[in-house]
Amino acid sequence: MKEYVVGVDLGGTKILTAIADLEGNILARVRKDTEAQKGKDAVIQKIKDTIYEVVEKVDLDLSQVKGIGLGVPGPVNIKEGSIKHTPNLDLDNVNIVEELKDLGIAVFLENDANAAALGEKWFGAGKEAENMIYVTISTGIGGGIIINKEIFHGAGDAAGEIGHMTILPDSEIKCGCGNYGCWEAIASGTALSRMGREAVEAGEETLIGDLVTDSSEINGEVIAKAFEKDDKLAKEILDRLASYIGIGMANLINIFNPDTIVVGGGVSYSWSLIEDGVTSEINKRAMSSLTNNVEVVLAELGSDVGVLGAVATALSEVKLEI
Ligand SMILES: [Zn+2]
Repeated sequence: MKEYVVGVDLGGTKILTAIADLEGNILARVRKDTEAQKGKDAVIQKIKDTIYEVVEKVDLDLSQVKGIGLGVPGPVNIKEGSIKHTPNLDLDNVNIVEELKDLGIAVFLENDANAAALGEKWFGAGKEAENMIYVTISTGIGGGIIINKEIFHGAGDAAGEIGHMTILPDSEIKCGCGNYGCWEAIASGTALSRMGREAVEAGEETLIGDLVTDSSEINGEVIAKAFEKDDKLAKEILDRLASYIGIGMANLINIFNPDTIVVGGGVSYSWSLIEDGVTSEINKRAMSSLTNNVEVVLAELGSDVGVLGAVATALSEVKLEI
């Protein structure tokens, strides 16, 4: 009997579920609103409903599903099968693997950044990679570390918090984690918007302020637009961002000696504006014996990365077991 896996991307607003064969071909998908406000039990039931539905859609029996990958937004305890914390869901300290036990299928839990890394490894820009770092730069910076084709989880399943390495020790910019000068505090999309806003509010000469009605509207897109109109300050800001991103990547390259760094998240849309700056910073700071072997490439899965990452989470476990 042919076997399959299911991937569930649990988000604060949507649950995306897909079924794939063991070759990784996606056969069907289901998407439902999470309706997190209805509480824990309703969300768990909804996860189950998407699984039943997606299996039904392709006329299969639940017993043909060999494993379920579940990606959740937040830290997890993989050994216990529990979610430690999720910002927008009432699932803190819930043993989700236990809750899904009545499905009778092995459930493999993963945090969404690690799942995304696996998604890019199995289906996206990292297909050829063996040692890969996934870096997602949006409002924050997250990541996943793949060593010998597998996620590196660390002692407490918390490895990969790359956004919280200190880049500027004397910085006054406070990070969400409480530390100052973290990579995500100074090199994320949020940081980019802040740099633009501060420049405008300080009265510096730039077009950035002319492109919005209020400085609170300044974001990466606005700064990119100003850059395209040859705005000097926009270029300076993007150069600074590129340099900070490059410093963090150089650190990762020196530590992990990856063959591939996959860059995802909102900042990847402005990649052409910062790529040269990032590359030159990497070459300046990482050892040449390591930079010679690494490729920095853009993620390929876009908004699909969550659900494909969940499928990849299941595939990587099931394939190892076979
Ligand atoms: Zn931090």
